[in-house]
Amino acid sequence: MSHNASLSFEVFPPKKEEEFENIFDFLRAAAKLHPDFISCTYGAGGSRAGKTIEIASFIQKELGIDAIAHITCVGFTHADLEKNCEALTAAGVNHVLALRGDRPQHMTDEQFNSREFFYATDLVRHLKEHTSLQISGACYPEKHFEAPSLEEDLIHLKEKVDAGVSSLVTQMFFDNTCFYRFIELVRAKGITVPIHAGIMPITTAKQLGTTVSLSGSSVPKELADLIATYGENKEDMRKAGIDYAVRQIQDLREHGVDGIHIYSMNKLKTTTEICALI
Ligand code: FAD
Repeated sequence: MSHNASLSFEVFPPKKEEEFENIFDFLRAAAKLHPDFISCTYGAGGSRAGKTIEIASFIQKELGIDAIAHITCVGFTHADLEKNCEALTAAGVNHVLALRGDRPQHMTDEQFNSREFFYATDLVRHLKEHTSLQISGACYPEKHFEAPSLEEDLIHLKEKVDAGVSSLVTQMFFDNTCFYRFIELVRAKGITVPIHAGIMPITTAKQLGTTVSLSGSSVPKELADLIATYGENKEDMRKAGIDYAVRQIQDLREHGVDGIHIYSMNKLKTTTEICALI
């Protein structure tokens, strides 16, 4: 069994101002689980960018844990990006997850088709040329929803990595065989950077209709059955979801995964329980 897999968490800036302080409590407690890094998401279209930087700065400077600030470029001009990079540097954050982002609802076809950064690769190239930031990127074991095929998605993934990405974090997946097949194809393409497997604990039935359906990840029968059995009972569902995530992680570690990246959803109890069991 490989015990060398790294452990990391993803958090998001809470939407409500009154919940904002809770994230710092979560992070202080999560630090005790000794993650190798913690990443913080970026609001779609760049809303609340300052919050991402504030949280990443806290992780880096106050907790002394490597912080990765997510950054999207879909609605960005070069000037916006420059401002954002200056803010990151001033906040002591030197690692980003460079993303294209999804098209914001308010963006017209004309704006979308004439955007300054077309793909994450364009952002990576720009960051590489103009900053000294360390750059990670996203990847999709079951292909990105816009890609006509996994093969085509992998061609663009290789371009992204060659542009200067030093590690990848995957979209959530629930079927490890999809991940193993993906890793084989990625390595065959000559992509050698570490790949952190994104694990989303499914602790409520509602998540299936929201987060999971948005991700485009397939739901194996075992997970669907589990939700059908326990979905109505809050605590049983939480326990069953944790058990599923733990088994997924154990199997990934046995297969020598580079890293486990837990989509914590800012939930301390669930994250702590998973870490105690893996
Ligand atoms: P890209 O790598 O640019 O790929 C997008 C699509 O374009 C793919 O289908 C790819 O195959 C295709 N493509 C790439 N290059 C070319 C080319 N040259 N020609 C033709 N097609 C091309 N969103 C947020 O808003 N905030 C977040 O914090 C956030 N965090 C995320 C974290 C992870 C780990 C993941 C997996 C996703 C995250 N997302 C986030 C969602 C992400 O922004 C969307 O999935 C978005 O649609 C794609 O972003 P990307 O960086 O993967 O895009």
